[in-house]
Amino acid sequence: MGLIKHKLAYFFFLFLSAFFNIHQTANAADSPHVDLYVTYEEKAGKVVVHATTFLTTSAPKFVLSNVVTLTNVEIGNNAVIYEASDSYLIALKEGQNSAPIVLTYSISLPASKKTDGSTDHNGGADWSGDQTGAFIPGNRIWYPLFQEPSTANITIKTRSHLRAVAPGHETGSEDTNGYRVSTFEMPQPILGIDLMIGQWLVSEKQFQGITGRIILRTYFDENNSPLSEEYLALCERYIKYYEELIGPYPYTGFAVVSSPFPTGLGMPSLTYISEKILKYPFIKNRSLPHEIVHNWLGNGIRASYESGNWSEGLTTYLADYWQTELKSQSAAKDMRYGWLRNYASVAREDEQSLSSFSSRHHTASSAIGYGKGAMFFHMLRTVLGKPAFISCIKDFWGSFQFKSASYSTIRDTCQKYTNADLNLFFEAWVPTLGAPTISVVKTPRMSDNRQLLLTQDGSWVYNLEIEYASLKNESEIITIPLENKLTEVNILENSKGVAQVQIDPNFNVWRNLYSEEIVPTIRDFIVAKEPIYKQLGSNVINGQKLISEYFLENEIQKKPHKASDLSERLESIHLGDISEVRDHLLLSTQANDQRFLTAMSNADFLIASLSHMRGKTLFIGVSPKIDEEMLFMLLSRARHYGKYSWLTISSSGQTFSGKWSRGKKLFELSASGRKN
Ligand SMILES: [Zn+2]
Repeated sequence: MGLIKHKLAYFFFLFLSAFFNIHQTANAADSPHVDLYVTYEEKAGKVVVHATTFLTTSAPKFVLSNVVTLTNVEIGNNAVIYEASDSYLIALKEGQNSAPIVLTYSISLPASKKTDGSTDHNGGADWSGDQTGAFIPGNRIWYPLFQEPSTANITIKTRSHLRAVAPGHETGSEDTNGYRVSTFEMPQPILGIDLMIGQWLVSEKQFQGITGRIILRTYFDENNSPLSEEYLALCERYIKYYEELIGPYPYTGFAVVSSPFPTGLGMPSLTYISEKILKYPFIKNRSLPHEIVHNWLGNGIRASYESGNWSEGLTTYLADYWQTELKSQSAAKDMRYGWLRNYASVAREDEQSLSSFSSRHHTASSAIGYGKGAMFFHMLRTVLGKPAFISCIKDFWGSFQFKSASYSTIRDTCQKYTNADLNLFFEAWVPTLGAPTISVVKTPRMSDNRQLLLTQDGSWVYNLEIEYASLKNESEIITIPLENKLTEVNILENSKGVAQVQIDPNFNVWRNLYSEEIVPTIRDFIVAKEPIYKQLGSNVINGQKLISEYFLENEIQKKPHKASDLSERLESIHLGDISEVRDHLLLSTQANDQRFLTAMSNADFLIASLSHMRGKTLFIGVSPKIDEEMLFMLLSRARHYGKYSWLTISSSGQTFSGKWSRGKKLFELSASGRKN
């Protein structure tokens, strides 16, 4: 979640799908196998690869990127080589049973652009090489890539000041005559091997896992090496925790590798994280457990993408969320709210279903694949109960490790642990778009004054919490299983009757938030589809152009909307002198946070996001000290505060930010329901 991206880049998947009707099965015994001998020539910025493999009737073809320069091709008479637009395809000839293949080729690596954030469009680092290291991503198809994951042995030769890291089990690393030769075995089938070469300080720790010793390593640059001990301890703690929760850890080791690139990657048995962010708590507490859990879910059990990638949702749920819930119920509630809040800013036309999610490629897909995916598993846990949910996860791991699985595999596994019809539940959430909007009224026809009528705009299946307060203000929560559009509910009330009902007060359901619950954020404006701009007064610099070019994703609308076009989603940006903006904000009931009021009084620049009946307004206040160049810098900085409702910066650089408090939607019920 968040920062770390995963190995199977979207474009790579599309590329493969074009060649093969992807269907992953296979355990190690049926998998194709590849032997690679890789030499890194750092002065020339290239790798030379000697690859040997075997085509058989069960693995009759593979692809290799055609950016490689082939220097030796031994495919015999039983195989044939084709060149497609961006790759070679090497395939068994019809009627043949097997063919040994030997290829030698070199790949020129572009010089790395570490400072400008050289990343592919998917956020992972792209390939590069120089004197201090190299990165060769699996999604570049740099070695024979079969239709299904293959096992592999890799030998990597570098100059001795460098070190190589690859997924799998390191079986040796020897330093002779100025060269280092490292060997890796991947006995578990893998699709797309990433290779990393760098100058690192290596620390190691071993511990006894459920089925064998597990070797933990950090490969850190000098600045981060003091963090090694902490990382090794965290890795041990998380792996032990998830061995208890899910089952035996599937690899012989786990490594955390510092990356000179601004983003990171997760892959079987290791994670590659930017050296600039290793020190931050959110990496230690969220990204690290997330990557570790992917060794079971995503790498251990692979998601069969054609029916939706469940692995991000389940990993986010069991790692990011589960660790949060262990520490604090209220932080867990905030995280669930965050998923719904992110969803609230997804435009309907950008929404996809869980079954069409493959990997994150923009904000909207991450709100679904990670947010809705995690909430889906949360709701599943609510339906099953926590002990049954955990049994189901253990069973899933026990039955499907190193195989591929789909949502229906998970459904069938969990069905063993419940009487609820999971078919209905999965059908309601996996292939669908949208979310329920829930409403409640007191039915007028009731005889005993105890009936509420819940309505939802679809046949969504879940357990819903209803919190109600009697006129005496005694609060109670009940849980109702819902699957129909209309559901009558009995609530036991005292003679005073029920005054107020709150639906899903703890955000346990994938649903549309009520407008009262939506805390306005700065991001609402950054991503606004058709923002409009208004200059408040003439004694202040005009920020329209800067805001349009450097702050917003979409341009400010040239012509303001006509009054008749005003809709709920209208976002308007008002820029003015800071004292004038302060006066506006002092009148607002939303902007009454004491921290904000204090910070605002000393600020030279402020941003506040407010919602109101006719839409949303972003107030930007600038003091006379701010010139155009400073405004550019401040706006660029403000983009990093998207999740907040407000931000203030003083001329000395003091920065404060915060969110308005979350409102509640209360359904007011008249206590005087008609009695028969
Ligand atoms: Zn992930």
